[in-house]
Amino acid sequence: MPLKLFNTISKEKELFKPIREDDVRMYVCGPTLYNNPHVGNFRPIVIFDVLFRLLKDIYNENKVTYVRNITDIDDKIINKSKELSQSTEELVSVYKKTFQKDLLDLNILPPTKEPSATDYIDKMILMIKDLVKTGFAYESENHVLFETNKFKDYGKLSRLSLKDIIAGARVEVAGYKKNPEDFVLWKPSKNNEPFWDSPWGKGRPGWHIECSAMSHELLGSNFDIHGGGIDLIFPHHENEIAQSTCWHGEQTAQIWMHNGFVNFSGEKMSKSLGNIATVNDLLKNYTGDVIKYSLLNAHYRQPLEFSDALLRSSQLILDKWSDSKNWNIQTINGYDQQFIDYLMDDLNTPAALMRLQTIFNLIKKDPENNELRAHFINGLKLLGIDPKDTKKELKIDVNYIENMISERSLAKESRNFDRADQIRDELQNQGIVLEDTPGGTKWKQI
Ligand SMILES: [Zn+2]
Repeated sequence: MPLKLFNTISKEKELFKPIREDDVRMYVCGPTLYNNPHVGNFRPIVIFDVLFRLLKDIYNENKVTYVRNITDIDDKIINKSKELSQSTEELVSVYKKTFQKDLLDLNILPPTKEPSATDYIDKMILMIKDLVKTGFAYESENHVLFETNKFKDYGKLSRLSLKDIIAGARVEVAGYKKNPEDFVLWKPSKNNEPFWDSPWGKGRPGWHIECSAMSHELLGSNFDIHGGGIDLIFPHHENEIAQSTCWHGEQTAQIWMHNGFVNFSGEKMSKSLGNIATVNDLLKNYTGDVIKYSLLNAHYRQPLEFSDALLRSSQLILDKWSDSKNWNIQTINGYDQQFIDYLMDDLNTPAALMRLQTIFNLIKKDPENNELRAHFINGLKLLGIDPKDTKKELKIDVNYIENMISERSLAKESRNFDRADQIRDELQNQGIVLEDTPGGTKWKQI
C-alpha cells in the first residue's frame, strides 16, 4: 500500500507524492523553551519521528530532510526570564538541556536540522522588508503588521472566514492595527528586553515569521510536509501560509498535518504526578519507551486521554515484549504486510501496535519461527521502540498514599462510597493496592 496522509487543507487522506523523490522535505514546529516540555508537547515530536523513520524507510536513509525548530525568542520566554531575573539565553539553555535528555530517553532520532529562531533574524527582517515593499505589510508605531485582507486565501487552512475570526475574538484589537485581524511580523522591544536593530527600530520578530524564515532557508519555498499540533492551525500556520506565500509567490507545504490534543480530563493524572505532566517528571517513574508507547496508542489525529492507567498498561505490554531481547534471530529485512499497511494508512500507530501484539502471540505458539520474530523486531525498530529494561522502580510517596488512605476512611465514615472507591482506583492505577483489615487499611505495591 502506498503512503497516504491526511491533509488539513483538503480534509482528506491524500496519496503522498513528494515533489522530489531524492529529497523529501518535512518541517515541524518545535517547542518554545520556556519550561520543561509537557507530554502534550511531545506528542508531535513522537508522531513525526515515526513519520521521519517511515519516510527514510521508503525513500532511503539520506533522502529525507527533516527540520524541527526551537523557538528561543517569544513573549512567554521573555516573561518567564523577567520573572526569574535570568537572560532569555540562560533560560532557554536550561530547558534545552532537559529537552535534549528527554529526546534521548524517548529514543527520538535527531532531525536533519534543528534551527533556533534567533539565528535567522536577518532572514526575517529581509522577508518583512519585502512584504512592506510589496504592500502586504505596513509599519505602524514601530510595529510591522501583515494586512490579512490582502491575501485572498487567508483562512483556507483553518476554514475560517475573516468574519468568523473577528467575531470569535480570536485576534487582538490594538490601536496600531488597521484591521483587528492583522498580525504582527515585528514588534518593538521594551527596556531590558532582547532586541535586534531593524528598519523599524530596536525590536524582535513575531512568532509566526520565525517558522516561515527557517523553513524557507532550510527547505525552500515549496516543500512536502508541514506538521504540528492542532492548536497551531490558527493562527500560527494560517499566518505562516499567508506571509510565506505572499513573499515567495508559491504554495508553501503540500501537506499540512496536525496531531490532536493530549487530555488529562477523563481519568485524570494522579495528583502525585501532577495534572500537567512534564516528560522529565514522567521519566522518574517510567522509561521513555513506556511514554512513547502511550503516546502512539491512539491515532495521531484523535485526542489522547493520558492517565496513569494508560502508562501502566503500556508498561505491562512492554515488559512482555522485552522477552524479545533474548531472541536469536537471523536477520530478515522487511515488515509484516499488515503492520506496514497500517502505518502507510495515515500513520495508524494503534492498529500497528495491536498487530505487533498479534505477531507476538503467534510467536509464543510457534517460537522457532524466524520470520515472525524478524517481523516483530523490525516493526519495533521502525517505531523506534526498544523494549529493554522497562521496569523502573516506582518512586513511592508514602505521605501521599497515607493521606489518600485517611481521606478514604473519612469518605467511608460519611458514607461517600463513590469518593472512597475513586481513591482506591486512583491508587490502584499507580500500582498501590489497598487491603482493609480489622487493624485498619494496609497498602502494598504491585
Ligand atoms: Zn511554527
